[in-house]
Amino acid sequence: MGREQGIWATPAEHLRRTRPDHPVIYACPAAFQDSARRFLTGFPGLVSYAVKANPDEDVLANLASVGVRAFDVASPAEMTLVRRIVPGAALHYNNPVRSPAEIAAGLRHGAASWSVDSHSELDKLAAQLPAGAEVAVRFKLPVAGAAYDFGAKFGATEDRAADLLRRVPAQGFVAAMTFHPGTQCTDPAAWESYIAAAAGIARAAEVPIARLNVGGGFPAHRCGDAPRLEVIFAAIAAAARRAFGPDAPSLVCEPGRAMVAEGFTLAARVKAIRDATHVFLNDGIYGGLAEAPVMGNIDRIEVLDSTGAPRKGPPVAREVFGPTCDSLDRLPGTLSLPADMAEGDYLLIRGLGAYSTATATRFNGYGALERVTVLAA
Ligand SMILES: *Cc1c(COP(=O)(O)O)cnc(C)c1O
Repeated sequence: MGREQGIWATPAEHLRRTRPDHPVIYACPAAFQDSARRFLTGFPGLVSYAVKANPDEDVLANLASVGVRAFDVASPAEMTLVRRIVPGAALHYNNPVRSPAEIAAGLRHGAASWSVDSHSELDKLAAQLPAGAEVAVRFKLPVAGAAYDFGAKFGATEDRAADLLRRVPAQGFVAAMTFHPGTQCTDPAAWESYIAAAAGIARAAEVPIARLNVGGGFPAHRCGDAPRLEVIFAAIAAAARRAFGPDAPSLVCEPGRAMVAEGFTLAARVKAIRDATHVFLNDGIYGGLAEAPVMGNIDRIEVLDSTGAPRKGPPVAREVFGPTCDSLDRLPGTLSLPADMAEGDYLLIRGLGAYSTATATRFNGYGALERVTVLAA
């Protein structure tokens, strides 16, 4: 990302004054801090940020500045990064597949919790971790409510989870459990069924668990109304009380997307409009819009002319393409964009702080995103 030059009030102010011909990411520290406070005050347990959603150093520092002290990490590089930016943080090493060298790195970094979903990976942990380490058995249920299926890759079935859980105290480890309901999960029922299943697994294994990590998957504001996270928080607390009764484990959550999505707005410029319907932008699926093909488009789009004034024409459906020569580089379906939109205009796409810069490439020489700090995104 490019160098920062001062702090601007809004994206529109920066666009009007500088008229960039490259895509720009507007980063809003206040938005990152607001989301973090919302989790810290609302979630009934420990809040651990899933670093992969946005590993930007300033983002980590912003979250830490309002009190985030735990981080969900999946690799030695993420651990090194968090240790450098937030030295005293608790690291939850929740990638259930690790090489012996990666386990050694986790030990060096002082990882506080380790997830596991197979006997062979538990064997590897048993060979290297000291007694007393927290090991969280990760399980999965058939998918419900999420934008895509995380259980396709990780998570033990309920039967295997009970077998694994029995082994955890037998190896001298502190028993915990974890799951990840998917991403952009709007239905609290997903957490409720996972929490009920976790209690069932612990009962079947006859192993009390110290902590239950209810994963990430909290929804960001992509289309329509903003999701009500507090409803999900309350459903999680109630489900844990119902399922576990008086000896409920303490809860942990590990939001990625919902923690950071509001903090970035992308400005992409209209390079060309061909045949009145095909819009070519200077950023696309190999850059900041990588998620669109799997997650669908975000509808929080404002179009500004090159003086920064909003276009107000009636919406017209357009096909939207990115700048590379790959025909996959287009947004799914169509976007409703103002009829008076013209070459040189800017699309401001809000809610793009998660899985955008984290996965952007430089394919075909594009994808360099200037980064500008704004007071309001
Ligand atoms: C990716 C991931 C998260 C964060 O998911 P979001 O949908 O971004 O909240 C949390 N936990 C685990 C184990 C993950 O792999």
